[in-house]
Amino acid sequence: MVKRILVTGGAGFLGSHLCDRLVAMGHDVICLDNLFTSQKSNIAHLLDFKNFEFVRHDITQPIMLEVDEIFNLACPAAPGHYQYNPIKTMKTSVLGAINVLGLAKRVRAKVFHASTSEVYGDPDVHPQPESYRGSVNPIGPRACYDEGKRAAETLFFDYHRQNKVNIRVVRIFNTYGPRMHPFDGRVVSNFIRQAIHGEPITLYGEGTQTRSFCYVDDLLDGFLALMNAPDDLPGPVNIGNPSEFTIRQLAELVIELSGSRSQIIKARPLPMDDPLQRRPDITLARARLGWEPKIALREGLARTISYFQSIDMSQFRAPTPNY
Ligand code: NAD
Ligand code: UDP
Repeated sequence: MVKRILVTGGAGFLGSHLCDRLVAMGHDVICLDNLFTSQKSNIAHLLDFKNFEFVRHDITQPIMLEVDEIFNLACPAAPGHYQYNPIKTMKTSVLGAINVLGLAKRVRAKVFHASTSEVYGDPDVHPQPESYRGSVNPIGPRACYDEGKRAAETLFFDYHRQNKVNIRVVRIFNTYGPRMHPFDGRVVSNFIRQAIHGEPITLYGEGTQTRSFCYVDDLLDGFLALMNAPDDLPGPVNIGNPSEFTIRQLAELVIELSGSRSQIIKARPLPMDDPLQRRPDITLARARLGWEPKIALREGLARTISYFQSIDMSQFRAPTPNY
């Protein structure tokens, strides 16, 4: 059945890939974005499709639309982006959630929310299952994002309980791939950009902190599986790749795969509240969605390096000075 689907944050890294999938499936897709951390080139190839339209709008403001489903992805995701204007980040999470939930309630749409592994903060349970309540510093530099996302989850579950809104909440762990912004300051984009240009690879801290990296195609399979799962699964569901790497291992792999002569340097101390370890427990996604990632880091990085080699980076404007 063809559905009318709203994707907030649809011009971003994940949102543009999601729009690609939904348009290819024949759905009527509305991509809403204020282009804070993205650019129209991510969706330029979709603009001529009859079942795709772009709306430039800020999700902190209400919007009236008639849709069957909503994917709520609008929010800066890279630390340098969400810390640039932390009050706006909190507004985007909280007012954005209120606006999409109000819309979903009015038109009885199913609504999906992109939450994050950051709700677990700097975790003292490892790996992190959905039942872990997290260890977030509520007044630190990451709180605008972490607490904003936690408050958004609360709103989703309250609209679900109070107003019977059909919700899906996914907790996304570090995801990478083509269309990441080359100047977003995230570790994968930084290391690949630096390696391609022969610049030093900038480790923060000793590089012993860990992350578990999921390739974008795998993540989207998880998104769609959760959106189409039975209604008794509102989430939250962890979606991520459980293969865990130190940041130094990531740097070495990027150098190897790109054939770079870059040196690894200790560029600065570990930023405040930077989680020391992160790895998803995906037991729930495996059991209820039959989902698990298929693309290994080596393969996904090779594809992402090819993408970064293919773009003209001078065409990209850094959204904030924080990269
Ligand atoms: P991104 O920055 O590429 O995409 C976010 C999009 O939201 C951008 O296009 C941006 O312009 C838009 N946006 C920001 N504020 C907005 C506002 N007020 N109104 C309308 N649009 C707005 O980042 P991404 O990696 O594609 O992340 C997408 C979503 O997934 C975010 O909600 C993020 O928190 C979540 N997430 C991503 C990851 C990851 O590793 N990529 C991990 C956890 C959670
Ligand atoms: N990091 C790094 N060098 C960089 C960028 C990031 O060592 O140039 C580290 C950062 O301190 C963190 C990890 O890489 O420990 C992942 O950072 P990112 O900003 O990609 O995402 P996070 O998972 O922290 O939100």
